[in-house]
Amino acid sequence: MNILVLNCGSSSVKFQLINTDQHLIELNTDKRLAYGVIERIGGPALVNFSVVNADGSSRSHREAIPLRDHSAAIEKIVQWIISQEANIPGISSYADIAAVGHRVVHGGEELTSSMMITDSVIKQIEDCIDLAPLHNPQNLKGIYAIKKVFGGTAKQVAVFDTAFHHTLPDYAYLYAIPYQFYRRHKIRRYGFHGVSHRYVQYRYRTLVGLERESVNVISIHLGNGCSVCAIKGGRSMDTSMGMTPLEGLVMGTRSGDIDPAIIEHLSHKEGYSQAEVQSVLNKQSGLLGISGLTNDMRELIAEAVENDDRRAKLAIEVFAYRIKKYIGSYLAAMNGASAIIFTGGIGENSDYVRGKIANGLEWLGLHVDFDRNAATIRGKEGKISQDGSRLDSWVIPTNEELMIARDTFRCVMGLELPR
Ligand code: AMP
Repeated sequence: MNILVLNCGSSSVKFQLINTDQHLIELNTDKRLAYGVIERIGGPALVNFSVVNADGSSRSHREAIPLRDHSAAIEKIVQWIISQEANIPGISSYADIAAVGHRVVHGGEELTSSMMITDSVIKQIEDCIDLAPLHNPQNLKGIYAIKKVFGGTAKQVAVFDTAFHHTLPDYAYLYAIPYQFYRRHKIRRYGFHGVSHRYVQYRYRTLVGLERESVNVISIHLGNGCSVCAIKGGRSMDTSMGMTPLEGLVMGTRSGDIDPAIIEHLSHKEGYSQAEVQSVLNKQSGLLGISGLTNDMRELIAEAVENDDRRAKLAIEVFAYRIKKYIGSYLAAMNGASAIIFTGGIGENSDYVRGKIANGLEWLGLHVDFDRNAATIRGKEGKISQDGSRLDSWVIPTNEELMIARDTFRCVMGLELPR
């Protein structure tokens, strides 16, 4: 079954075309046929598409064309996928794309697993806009666009970033503010990056040969957005992002945890409106805010190592220290774990940052193997701790699109979804 996976942002659409079915899932041989992104939708858009050849290499197609909206962008993607130019084996018409899987950021308290998109599900996703005003409207644009391009009978599935965390116990998801605000406004921790943390959990148990119920790990997703997830018995039991993706770790441009009193103080001192303070915390903080240079970890490391830049070094220190504290607190909350697992652009590629985080965790039983750590970059998967370490460490490159494609296949076929 060929599944189109879509991830719609405010001015971009990312896609992958994945061939999967039950047999391929069991053998872990589902195939990515094509992938790409359209950026700067709403003006002269940049198109960057690739087809994966049989030998694993790719052929690329790039162009700049005006695309008015998400619907025009998605039409462009589909037209290209089925075109003779793309020449994807077995795909030459709309009918060869069996279903579309959407990444949807917020499912609230009701939408707790992947599901076929019906009018009533669309309504429920719309109801969650309040909780994720920056994200859900973009995801909905993709859903409306597919209806327009494929017609109303298109099979569409929603895969929620919050769903993996629906197993959080109440004592982990409640904030200590008056309970009526939870009742009235659903203010609580939801957590995000759930598709990524779920993939890490699945992949780890496959690699080490464990049943899901025996997986006790801390999954650390470090990309532009960053979050930690305590996974006990294969289920999420706590996670660092909160009602929104602003809470928790230091991120590229987001502050993560701060004293909430800072908001009023900053507003008073700088004369900022509520919206301006939110913008500072979301867009001008984190690695960018501390360093004053960049939100890109590669550039920060270069500044720290090559130019000995004080604030670049400080930004990386604050970043690593916050992660260390979360590891310690989650190990306590979980009564121990067998591994900490790194994923996301920084987690997968930076042995430097991983080394900084792991350094000083020897008392917890983590002993990183220097050579393994240095060698496990650029998409490699494997253990980076020494054999016999009481607490292991692994690198598992995330694959959210694969999870979305598999869930889409299962939902379309009416199969049971693994947790
Ligand atoms: P993501 O959002 O998962 O694509 O991750 C983006 C982040 O990964 C950016 O901060 C990049 O600078 C960072 N990143 C990618 N490659 C490397 C690398 N080799 N070393 C350090 N950071 C990297």
